Amino acid sequence: MTFKSNEFKHVNYLWDDKAASQLDAVERLRYRSNILGADQLITNTGGGNTSSKIKMIDPLSGEEVDVLWVKGSGGDLRTSTRANFASLYMDKFLSLEHIYNKAEIKGVKTEIEDSMVDMYRHTTFGLNPAASSIDTPLHGLIPFRHVDHMHPVSAIAIAASKDQEDLTQEIFGDEVGWVPWQRPGFDLGLVMQEKIKQNPKLKGLIMGQHGLINWADDDKACYELTLTLIEKAAHYIEGFDRGDKTFGGQKYHSPDESTRRQILIQLLPKLRGMVSQQNRSIGTVHMTESVLQFVNSVEAPRLAELGTSCPDHFLRTKIKPLYVDWNPQGESFDTLIEKLEKGLAAYRVDYMSYYEACKHPNSPAMRDPNPTVILIPGVGLIAWGKTKSESRVTAEFYSLAIEVMRSSEAISKYQGLPRQEAFDIEYWLLEEAKLKRMPPEKEFARNVVVVIGAGSGIGKATAHRVAKEGAHVVCADVSEESARATAQELIDIHGVGIGIAGTGLSGCGPAIGLGVDIACRESVQALFEEIIFAYGGIDNVIVTAGIFVSPDKNGRIPDDKWSLTYAINVIGAFIVADEARKIWQAQKLSGSLVLTTSVNAAVAKQGSLAYDTSKAAANHLVRELAIELSPLVRVNGLAPATVVEGSSMFPRDRVVSSLIKYNVSFEESESTEALREKLATFYAQRTLTKSPVTLADQAEVAYLLSSNKFSKTTGQIIGVDGGLQEAFLR
Ligand SMILES: [Zn+2]
Repeated sequence: MTFKSNEFKHVNYLWDDKAASQLDAVERLRYRSNILGADQLITNTGGGNTSSKIKMIDPLSGEEVDVLWVKGSGGDLRTSTRANFASLYMDKFLSLEHIYNKAEIKGVKTEIEDSMVDMYRHTTFGLNPAASSIDTPLHGLIPFRHVDHMHPVSAIAIAASKDQEDLTQEIFGDEVGWVPWQRPGFDLGLVMQEKIKQNPKLKGLIMGQHGLINWADDDKACYELTLTLIEKAAHYIEGFDRGDKTFGGQKYHSPDESTRRQILIQLLPKLRGMVSQQNRSIGTVHMTESVLQFVNSVEAPRLAELGTSCPDHFLRTKIKPLYVDWNPQGESFDTLIEKLEKGLAAYRVDYMSYYEACKHPNSPAMRDPNPTVILIPGVGLIAWGKTKSESRVTAEFYSLAIEVMRSSEAISKYQGLPRQEAFDIEYWLLEEAKLKRMPPEKEFARNVVVVIGAGSGIGKATAHRVAKEGAHVVCADVSEESARATAQELIDIHGVGIGIAGTGLSGCGPAIGLGVDIACRESVQALFEEIIFAYGGIDNVIVTAGIFVSPDKNGRIPDDKWSLTYAINVIGAFIVADEARKIWQAQKLSGSLVLTTSVNAAVAKQGSLAYDTSKAAANHLVRELAIELSPLVRVNGLAPATVVEGSSMFPRDRVVSSLIKYNVSFEESESTEALREKLATFYAQRTLTKSPVTLADQAEVAYLLSSNKFSKTTGQIIGVDGGLQEAFLR
């Protein structure tokens, strides 16, 4: 049977024979995985796995052996490369059944089951370092060449319904069987193997509260079977769509988009502070039509309480979301805040009692009891995670869970995973071991760092520096284009992460580029509103933007240029601090502000009167702000000596006028870069260290002053000038 892409309405048929024919067997598996993962209706980000049993030459014996290639632990089907697949000798893998069966106590959640995961490493083919996942036995024990295990909304909807077994029979007849919920592991593989033994004609199984698994001896056939089964389920569900009656109908309606945005701008920093008591989180706002229909519905409170079903979903969404019963039509913003505070307090207590009731003697310690998903009528869904990528995944998962509930409630009655089962996944020792293996968090993990002036020079170097420390970086600059360019560089280096969710700018990656004119309060306000919408708040602000107006030929600076210099170098820096203060205070989380001043603030000289006095004012602004913003925010100044390298503040005319001022000889015909180097060398000779000051030197100190490494330092100006005696502060 061959399929055409238009034969499917609920999934995207993406198989291309020509593309597949050019690939080796392992690459065909990678290809199949990527096109399955590319469709959210087929599986969620990071969810599901695929495998192929491939004949290969054994490097030890030179003989042909069967090798199980199976999507390994971590990663994501959509973006998987060959490196994400583990490879196991089939005969060695199958021999593990022996070891398992020999154990006195065996079965789901027994010690022997967990210890099998470590055994897979002994069966590795070809020195492949990819770690096998807990789902490996599902693939290895099913006696067919190709296996797809997916988490499609339509299949989970059946699997999360009260009468899931009957529904499976009704929708798929005899071609698909059903197994009740069981935590994935070796035992579940054996259960599936037994099912197939009893009925060799089975093509797949609905896995209770979990998803779908199906198989074939040909890879394309396996892919097409996956799509056909999902399509069949979705088609069946579609026939029961409840239209306006979905989720019991609408109780509230959403205000228009701009009102909703205003609510969110006010709300997000406060909310971020509330959920970040133990660990800072990054937010993602998700407000599609479908999400709004859910949060505004009559049955949202009941359904939210049931939690999500697919184990994959709820590992990120937690056992359940926090639903706040706020009436967007009749109640005030203050009431919303009150209800959130109460709701969060109750949620934490509830989470603690869930932990206490379900924990085992060897369970890991309780984790952060704050919700990761918050549902607000009229507003939408707000997800929180340790990174933007994580919070996008969380928003994606809950929005998929909403679709699962919509479908399940249409055909039956939705049920979540039982509490104990949920706990045994959330606090699974294997998951804990995975968490423990993760590298320690970086200095700026969970932080949003705003760099103003990030389009070039010190700002750009600083954006790169803080991104290296795990920061989410807002690159702002008077030139939006150059701000975006810097943000793109950061994304290219650090990756955009996984997870497909987030409305508008809230769907962004770990860096964004925005335009701002700091001399204009409205522009700064607009900047921070965008940032709040993108990430939920801010932690550190670094201002490197500044202006230097060269004097005219007579050495004079016109009055309007004086104003401009002060408007940017002093008042602009203040406006940034003043607007950021509102967010810091709403969050009630500590933060830091670094202003870039200059050694010129301390060294009196000729020809740069406006600039130098503005920087002297900026030095004192640092001290005044340190007092004004305490105790929440530390404020420090970075005082660079002129960095000529790559600086937008050193256009040719400034370089030339400096060279004239210092009597350094040059030719008009020399390139700007050559003149810059002359000037840098001249400057270096005046310093105690005799070496030119670089952008990297400045960025390092901007980073350090912002970071907790300087947590006890505020109101200080640190010179990065190679050692300029005249600039010593006293
Ligand atoms: Zn699964």
